[in-house]
Amino acid sequence: MNLPFAESWRIKMVEPIRTSTREEREQWIKEAHYNVFQLPAEQVYIDLLTDSGTGAMSDRQWSAMMMGDESYAGARSFFRMKDMITRLTGFEYVIPTHQGRAAENVLFSALVKEGDIVPGNSHFDTTKGHIESRRATALDCTIAEAKNTELDHPFKGNVDLALLEDVLRENGDKIPFIIVTITNNTAGGQPVSMANLKGVRALADKYGKPVVLDSARFAENAYFIKTREEGYADKTIKEITREMFDQADAMTMSAKKDAIVNMGGFIATRRPDWYEAAKCYCIPFEGYLTYGGMNGRDMEALAVGLDENTEFDNLHTRIHQVQFLASLLDEYGVPYQRPAGGHAIFIDASKVLTNVPKEEFPAQTLTVELYKEAGIRGCEIGYILADRDPVTRENRFGGLDLMRLAIPRRTYTDNHMRVIAAALRNVYERRDSITRGYAITEEAPLMRHFTVKLAPLAEQ
Ligand SMILES: *Cc1c(COP(=O)(O)O)cnc(C)c1O
Repeated sequence: MNLPFAESWRIKMVEPIRTSTREEREQWIKEAHYNVFQLPAEQVYIDLLTDSGTGAMSDRQWSAMMMGDESYAGARSFFRMKDMITRLTGFEYVIPTHQGRAAENVLFSALVKEGDIVPGNSHFDTTKGHIESRRATALDCTIAEAKNTELDHPFKGNVDLALLEDVLRENGDKIPFIIVTITNNTAGGQPVSMANLKGVRALADKYGKPVVLDSARFAENAYFIKTREEGYADKTIKEITREMFDQADAMTMSAKKDAIVNMGGFIATRRPDWYEAAKCYCIPFEGYLTYGGMNGRDMEALAVGLDENTEFDNLHTRIHQVQFLASLLDEYGVPYQRPAGGHAIFIDASKVLTNVPKEEFPAQTLTVELYKEAGIRGCEIGYILADRDPVTRENRFGGLDLMRLAIPRRTYTDNHMRVIAAALRNVYERRDSITRGYAITEEAPLMRHFTVKLAPLAEQ
């Protein structure tokens, strides 16, 4: 008999979490104005708000922290981190930053100017923000398949190469670089194939443009290449990682994802001119070049995290857990963005709460229902997050209305996945009785989802 799958680690430190009663949760979510961001974390049982900075560090990472060199300049910890990044990516020049968006801010300050166009695959919201705030355009060239949640495609994060070539041909002089996000977070944690990365590189060479990888989940992307793309089954994750970065000139990194630290990020590049240009922005925005907003101990933990999470077993344990949750949802018939992504499951609320009108925010309604059901905190990636049209001030109902369940790394067990799936099944089974959603009572003009206040439209 084949032995069943099990995690590639065991647990040596635990953090208690508490269940609560439905009455308590109904009171708490009311006090939070039906916005899960406003809930104190102690009122949450299983927290799937994000996989960013919420992973569990290993014993090796914790012990590395004790070796942190907190020298202001030239700390040993910086060189340890830099050596690891160079070993994995081939990039020689490294600038630490306090998190991913700070890496974008520093690099884009040097590279992006008014009127530029930066093509890519569904730019992450902070990436887009740092492009648009410089009065440049973030142009989405993701393949059309990504928009159909029911379609199975092994590399739904891919760039549409024909579309990219049109943009390069027509607007070449306005393009400072191409940015490819691995994995494609916005499309549901969907990977980009090696063939597609090579296709982007070939076009970049043809039109003389550099390529930047937004690399928050590069290791998960490498795992999908190994397990889904022909010719990579026998390569190690580290070999695949290196081959991915061989297609690029630089990377920005949110280390809170695939480096499994609670805070941190960096820029890395093979181009000395980019390094020189970015340096000037690191010092005023982030700090001196060998710490850039990070403690020495955090750079130590980051180096070890990168090493560990580019090993197959660690990634296999993680992705297996996300896929296990997906398999339970399949069993219960709950619709989600297919196939399951690397870091999260995205429930298609428009296919669950069919009786809730879009003006009453179905994905937000589902997020509140799941919290009330079991104290599970998901996150609306839908009409509230989409904000209003900047010109007409109308709500934007054009995109998908999803509830994201992001799975923190090495944090919850498969039993927690069973609870999540069962809670969702309970909500799904009574979906027809949920007919009303929420009205906005207060909202910020931009990025309203963090602070929005809502009122229920049905008797609670
Ligand atoms: C999280 C993330 C960022 C921003 O990183 P922070 O560390 O949150 O600032 C950028 N790009 C992608 C794809 C991300 O997932």
